[in-house]
Amino acid sequence: MTTLTFDSLNPATGEVVGSHPKQGVDAVRAAVGRAEEAGVWWAGLGHAERKRRLLDYKAVITQHLRELVKLVHEETGKPVGDATLEIVLAITHLDWAARNAHKVLGRRRVSTGMIGLNLAATLEYLPLGVVAVIGPWNYPVFTPMGSIAYALAAGNAVVFKPSEFTPGVGVRMAELFAESVPERPVFQSVTGLGETGAALAADPRVKKVAFTGSTATAKRVMAACAENLTPIVAECGGKDAFIVDADADLQAAADACLWGAMSNAGQTCAGVERVYVVDAVYESFMRELSERVTKVKAGEDYGPITMPGQVDIIKRHIDDATKSGKVVAGGPGSVRAPYVDPVIVEDVPEDSPAVREETFGPTITVRRTRDAQEALELANTSAYGLGGTIFSRNARRAMELARMMHTGMTAINSVISFAGVPALPFGGVGDSGFGRIHGADGLREFARPKAISRQRFAMPGMNLTSFARGPVEVERLIRLVTLLHGRRKR
Ligand code: NDP
Repeated sequence: MTTLTFDSLNPATGEVVGSHPKQGVDAVRAAVGRAEEAGVWWAGLGHAERKRRLLDYKAVITQHLRELVKLVHEETGKPVGDATLEIVLAITHLDWAARNAHKVLGRRRVSTGMIGLNLAATLEYLPLGVVAVIGPWNYPVFTPMGSIAYALAAGNAVVFKPSEFTPGVGVRMAELFAESVPERPVFQSVTGLGETGAALAADPRVKKVAFTGSTATAKRVMAACAENLTPIVAECGGKDAFIVDADADLQAAADACLWGAMSNAGQTCAGVERVYVVDAVYESFMRELSERVTKVKAGEDYGPITMPGQVDIIKRHIDDATKSGKVVAGGPGSVRAPYVDPVIVEDVPEDSPAVREETFGPTITVRRTRDAQEALELANTSAYGLGGTIFSRNARRAMELARMMHTGMTAINSVISFAGVPALPFGGVGDSGFGRIHGADGLREFARPKAISRQRFAMPGMNLTSFARGPVEVERLIRLVTLLHGRRKR
């Protein structure tokens, strides 16, 4: 007999944190049905009232901060400080989305141009309806909130399927929403395993799916969505590069590199996985890095590997890297599940799994490059393209390199700082996915542009969209277009 519930476990202790229903197709359908109705009501509230409710929800989350932190700490194993930081960042995104939705999406007049002189044109971004959010376990509040807050602010109803490893905090986030919006189930959660997410993605009443997880699962979700032509936004992780140029502040770079790679046990989609250091400062940087890494401890500075199956992938990458490269810190013995101690390996071939595939663990490979240009070329050979980092004291050069990095985001002289700026869109290219959460692009991702043109008066002698049009009007049009567009620029 199949079980009707599943447990979420504390990955550090194996204790049961909570038990949740495995919601099947019928339960998912019912939730989407309720969301459809609630969405119509929510859309009808308008921007000002939604903003008030969302800011109130933000206050409710803030008031329950400690409770949510405890849940995240228990379900993921991450330290309380990291869980706090994650939720604080989610709160700032909720605040930004609520405050900016009207400005970004609200109705505005746009210029009609000379040929449309007799028209008035308006543009606005309307809600899609029901948005399904399929979330991961690594940042179980911050990551889904990057979709949920923006989708709600854009006027949609949300059905959220949290990861099976972190269902408790997902359920609680939806429960707390009802304190600010008690009238209708505008934001619901559904719990279960992969099948629950699959049922959600396959429901034709879902108008957009916001997915965060692996590239392989994103493809499966996209295939299910193709059936109904449901668009998706896919955030599928990365293999982010960290470039240290000759003029970098090496102490700051080593410090940032370690935190970017090891914090959250490396289970960060935009975490540091590959490090490229220019020849001129290679030894000095490696000295800084190897001194600092001895002080970073699994189980103290960061928690366990949240998803048990991930340990095998990390182990495979470490085994592979240490066979071909030179160990700087840790090694195969660093894997003592559920913990993995920091691992740093130099000179790992660029075509090896440890350099090509997402590791999602506290490990980095480091390579010496001739100069920053070569570092950039190597950084750009990845199939992924989520984020990346440049360390350099030359702001202009750093900006040039950042712009040439083939990723959705780049941080300069800091790591992952783009994720904390709500106005910046978050998302990747290539195997890292497509579409954007956060910022104005994140709001528009969950809305459909509505274009309206209204004729204010009939253009005398220029009625072009009529069978009454004669050669005189066409001649006038040719003269007008020649005047407006016929002059060459040389
Ligand atoms: P998955 O991509 O398998 O899962 C992500 C989410 O999708 C979960 O909520 C999962 O539910 C759900 N899901 C699984 N199968 C389906 C399906 N067929 N249809 C709809 N939804 C589905 O990631 P994992 O958690 O298994 O992690 C695997 C790898 O993904 C990691 O090794 C890491 O490399 C990467 N990853 C990347 C993240 C990122 O931030 N971009 C976050 C997490 C992982 P359930 O958990 O219940 O299976």
